[in-house]
Amino acid sequence: MSKKRIIIPEPEEGLKFIDVHCHLPFPRPKKNDKLPSDEEQYYNYFKDGGVFLITSSIDMNTLKMILRFLKDKDKIGFSCGWAPQTVTYTPKNKYDQEWKEWIDFIKENPERYLAIGEIGLDFHHARTLDKRNKQVEVFKKIIEITEDLQKPYILHVRNAAEHEYDRDNPKHRYNKRDGVNQEILKILKIYNIDPKRVMWHCFSGPEQYGMNLSKQGFLLSVPSSAYGNNRWRKVTRNASLDSLVTETDSYYQHPFLRGPVNVPSNAKYAVAAIAYLHKVSQELVSKKTIENAIRFFGLELE
Ligand SMILES: [Zn+2]
Repeated sequence: MSKKRIIIPEPEEGLKFIDVHCHLPFPRPKKNDKLPSDEEQYYNYFKDGGVFLITSSIDMNTLKMILRFLKDKDKIGFSCGWAPQTVTYTPKNKYDQEWKEWIDFIKENPERYLAIGEIGLDFHHARTLDKRNKQVEVFKKIIEITEDLQKPYILHVRNAAEHEYDRDNPKHRYNKRDGVNQEILKILKIYNIDPKRVMWHCFSGPEQYGMNLSKQGFLLSVPSSAYGNNRWRKVTRNASLDSLVTETDSYYQHPFLRGPVNVPSNAKYAVAAIAYLHKVSQELVSKKTIENAIRFFGLELE
């Protein structure tokens, strides 16, 4: 097995960065848990140059874990999510109760979270029309219930790959390469959501959307895996630096390793990837992406 050659310069010593999207804490990997403890990950992040950390919940369980973790900590906030995978995989007998709890939390505690998400559509995890429609219905519902809170939205958007089309409805628009992007844009338009309030987390393309979405004012988040994987890198090469932020989505999306081994301090590898692609200094990317994150989330840093 040959190791893939990485052409991008390493992140420079002393680089500052913000991870705008990770999962800390999160249920630990079931197999092969090589991750440092949650406390160590948090501590190392600031030691390595992180200036503020934004973690994300995806359901009621992770929301509760995060609320406990945040209690005695500063320079950390979270985005409160109901991920499309949660819509698809939560057992039927638990769904209604957990959904209600989540919606109540969102409505009653807007001062406790920075943003709403990840929310969105994932047609890799939903392959039948029923499951896809259910995700669409829930996504609309969340926007409808929360639009007046004036919170930023963090989107999880995953188009169906070519082999993941719905076999019972092969001609359906959801199967298209950008079927999910289209659906999301349509719904945001219906509810008149300002693109400046919306971030596409782990933005995955297709490539022409990188420039289009950036021009419309959306924020695109580049994962640490863009360092070692051209696929994650090239989709934002034509996006403006004013529309980019950095994330790890840890514990997945390691800069160059496979498996559940990523940590928030690797957000610096996303800075290195953007600098390489845009042919500018890492320092400039660091400054821009931090400014963009501060503006988007309304962070107050001393
Ligand atoms: Zn995530």
